[in-house]
Amino acid sequence: MTNQYKQCTRCIMDNKSDKYITFNNKGECNYCTYALSIKNKVYYPNAEGERKLSELIKRLKEENKDHKYDCLMGISGGLDSSYLAYLGSVKWGLKILAVHVDDGFDTEISKRNIERISNFPNLDLRFVRPDTEQFTELTKAYMRAGVPNLAVPQDNVLFAGVYQFMKEHKLRAFVSGGNFALESIFQRGNTHTAYDLRNLKYIHKKFGKGSLNKLTLLSALKKDIDAYLLKIETPTPLNFIDYNRDRAMQELMEYCGFEYYGSKHLENDLTKFVQQYWFYHKFGVDKRTSHLSSMIVSGQMSREEAQQQYEMPLYDESDMDQTIDRVLDK
Ligand SMILES: [Zn+2]
Repeated sequence: MTNQYKQCTRCIMDNKSDKYITFNNKGECNYCTYALSIKNKVYYPNAEGERKLSELIKRLKEENKDHKYDCLMGISGGLDSSYLAYLGSVKWGLKILAVHVDDGFDTEISKRNIERISNFPNLDLRFVRPDTEQFTELTKAYMRAGVPNLAVPQDNVLFAGVYQFMKEHKLRAFVSGGNFALESIFQRGNTHTAYDLRNLKYIHKKFGKGSLNKLTLLSALKKDIDAYLLKIETPTPLNFIDYNRDRAMQELMEYCGFEYYGSKHLENDLTKFVQQYWFYHKFGVDKRTSHLSSMIVSGQMSREEAQQQYEMPLYDESDMDQTIDRVLDK
């Protein structure tokens, strides 16, 4: 076993902090090899996608013609979910119940963007507001525990809220912004399911204080049972279009003045801290390799351009100092 630095010759994934990466005899890694092998089975930026999309929209409208809404969407304030909300409401004419978790960590830009989204036609925006004190304490318990994914409480609270709204409005379709174009590659390791409630409670008990009684949380079992009973489906229509990051941002900007917040997942101070600082300094993981490599796989960035961006500083020091202050001051 050698520790020599090795980087994929096709994407920019490397072995800096990844014990799962492997390379074939051409120097291509397992991540892009796998992503390319499934690309045509999940991503349809073509006439077939157009057909799949119009079928989906037609079916959602038909199935929900007697309902107040056609579907539910989660809005993080990031590009994927914002662009999906725009397409769904403005371009596809869906009646949308949109849900945003206001965990107190939204950036100022994000607050303005979410306000813009709330004005989209046929879209009602609802907020899930977890108890600030308990939510922050739970998140801090995750920091003290030193686990990689500090976003577990955030994700759990979001989906607990989503499932409540789905039940309340008898909705079946949770239309997701998940997509192949920008997310096909995801470095292995350093993740833990957000629905392992036993693990969450253990971390809180060992590293946190106070109670969790004001937070609505969701266990994996409850999630599965609800998904089964409600017959929940999670279509991902961004896989039915030619989803290009720069064009999507441009379109959103022109439509409503949407402001860019830097890079993937930086719309929320906590996720920004986790993505850029925590993963990197604690685990040596630079999330940009996955994001940029995904864009290489979907053909919207060259390897050279990705490499150039990868070689730039991960974050601006003084900006990150301010972000950390805001996160820790809660
Ligand atoms: Zn690769």
